Amino acid sequence: MPPRASLRTTAKSLPEHARGNNRSLVLQTLYSDGAMSRADLARATGLTRVTISDLVAELLGEALVVEQGTRDEARPGKPATLVDIDRTGFRILGIDLSAHDAFRGALLDLDGGVHDRVIAALDGATGEAAVAKVVAVARELIARATVPILGVGIGSPGVVDLAGIVLTAPNLGWHDLPLQDVLVAELGLPVLVANDANVAALAEHSFGDALSDTMVVKIGNGVGAGLLVGGTLLSGARFSAGEIGHVVVGTDGGEPCACGKHGCLETWLAIPRLEARIAAAPAERDDILARAGERLGIALAPVVGALDLAEVVLSGPAHLLDGPLARAALDTLRSRTMAEFHGDLSLRGSALGEDIVMRGAAAMVLSGRLGVS
Ligand SMILES: [Zn+2]
Repeated sequence: MPPRASLRTTAKSLPEHARGNNRSLVLQTLYSDGAMSRADLARATGLTRVTISDLVAELLGEALVVEQGTRDEARPGKPATLVDIDRTGFRILGIDLSAHDAFRGALLDLDGGVHDRVIAALDGATGEAAVAKVVAVARELIARATVPILGVGIGSPGVVDLAGIVLTAPNLGWHDLPLQDVLVAELGLPVLVANDANVAALAEHSFGDALSDTMVVKIGNGVGAGLLVGGTLLSGARFSAGEIGHVVVGTDGGEPCACGKHGCLETWLAIPRLEARIAAAPAERDDILARAGERLGIALAPVVGALDLAEVVLSGPAHLLDGPLARAALDTLRSRTMAEFHGDLSLRGSALGEDIVMRGAAAMVLSGRLGVS
């Protein structure tokens, strides 16, 4: 497995942080490489045997790490006891609030595997009623868990700040809603809330094949994106990095948008609009999709150029995104960027399917609670 940059944005080096850093390093090494002996762990991390023994004892005490029997070593002497993160001893609760008609939640294991699922129809709920639905989904999953829950991760539509306050999510009628704090109080568990497209980018980083410099474009009722630059998620000056849905594409007008402008990327690309156009002219399906892909390429080219991205990942219904749309987007991107830098740019569909936000929410909890990704 290639090394991956940590998602943590701060590189703390003060002495009081050293132990915490070493602890994360041990957990990250076990998480990425799997069970190994304490001696292997010392070699892999560059920490001393004594430090490793202390840290492993601490992690065993917290039940985050388990001993897994022994392995015969080539060297003479006592067989080495293997240790690993307790991958089956915890669940993570991931909830996806991004669909227009339902909230989807699941219990996930530490490797991002999805276990129990709950789908709650939204039935037009907004404001407090929508918050109550999130709480209900979480409580139902908590009741099903047979092992401790490490934390709750939520991918919400709209703009979400670093404290998990939903600054605005118009479709849910949420404004300045401290969703993270509300859920901590309701559930009594650690909770992390972030924008759904950013969470999708975390999923690609942890459980997909994302490169370090990647844009994950999530196309559904709206269009949003998460940006990984140097392996770090960008949040932006107002926590809205990647919000490209209401950027006007081109100077030739376009359909009116809910935001009041004309020709926003969302008017070209949102799934309900694509479906309506295809339903009205089924014979022109490929042309309709190619035109949407071209607009996506026009919108993304300056972003790819400015950030020197290596790939673009599309998340959404594959039957619409794969094919003419993706081909036109890539052709347009290549024709509008510099071949010597971006000639090998890749554009692909996400392999994580409909679970991408739930899995990204789990990745966020792993990163936030254990420092691993
Ligand atoms: Zn708009």
